[in-house]
Amino acid sequence: MGEFAEKIISGDIRSVARLIRDIDDGVPGVRETMKELYSHTGKAYVIGITGAPGVGKSTLVDGVIGNLRNKGKTVGVLAVDPTSPFSGGAILGDRVRMQRHSTDPGVFIRSLATRGQFGGLTQSTRYAIDVLDAMGKDLIIVETVGVGQDEVDIVKAADTTVILVVPGMGDDIQAIKAGVLEVGDIFVINKSDHAGVEKTENDLRSMLALGNREDRETRWEPSIIKAEALSNKGISELIDEIDKHADYLRKASSDEGAAKKKEKLRLLLRDMVTNRLMEAFSSQLMQDIHFEEAVESIYMGRTDPYTACDKLLLSKTF
Ligand code: GDP
Repeated sequence: MGEFAEKIISGDIRSVARLIRDIDDGVPGVRETMKELYSHTGKAYVIGITGAPGVGKSTLVDGVIGNLRNKGKTVGVLAVDPTSPFSGGAILGDRVRMQRHSTDPGVFIRSLATRGQFGGLTQSTRYAIDVLDAMGKDLIIVETVGVGQDEVDIVKAADTTVILVVPGMGDDIQAIKAGVLEVGDIFVINKSDHAGVEKTENDLRSMLALGNREDRETRWEPSIIKAEALSNKGISELIDEIDKHADYLRKASSDEGAAKKKEKLRLLLRDMVTNRLMEAFSSQLMQDIHFEEAVESIYMGRTDPYTACDKLLLSKTF
């Protein structure tokens, strides 16, 4: 094993920070390091926390870190912010989020904001989870803004997925219903000091009832917790519920567990192969003389993009 990978495994903060930066920047050598780290992964418990901007994710994560640290657990946090790849996202995240934990050696917090490297944010986040796992963190929290498909894919990498909502956002619950609601293991109604908690809870319950009807008997029943992250209320209930879910996963029949693990590996490998192919193929394609000819032909009205696409694909071998 190389010196760099060894440093990561021994938990050297500077090396870990550099590797995560390299992942974010899409430095090709990263893959070789990841290969070396892989056999040291699989030990950490991964918690995904997602919700619309402003629902209190960072405040809640701050409380969760505090609780876990009191129990002697080490924690890694990845704040994934796809909304602002160039501006404040990552920088602001590192500076203001969870500030009081930034000097604790048992806590490692980083933001990921770049799209488009290694097949996008989902892939970069998976890499970074493995890095924090290999460095020996007991728990890894992945915080995302739960809006798009990327976020749904990211939380799929988690063992337990927590979805945050706030009272009075009935429409927003409708909006996240499509992809994210299905993957939620625990729902937190944060800011329960605000009016409309009951209604939000009822809305959630009816939507969950609809979503789970088919396989209710075998599946974990998603729970709903009320919290006030700002005053640390509901945090220990949330941790207890995460523990319960972890227990459920451990006790799930080995068949069910194996199937779930294999499904995750299937998705991971499919994405990796697809991304590598896309990377290789598109860079080759852009250099291909026929590509420019096709652009010219479409421009001149001699052909259409659909036919040109078919022809370009036919001229390639895989
Ligand atoms: P994020 O964008 O989801 O990470 O949300 P933040 O954690 O940055 O919180 C957004 C705002 O909501 C901040 O001003 C918090 O202080 C506030 N906030 C967080 N939790 C609560 C809560 O339980 N009650 C109230 N009233 N405000 C909260």
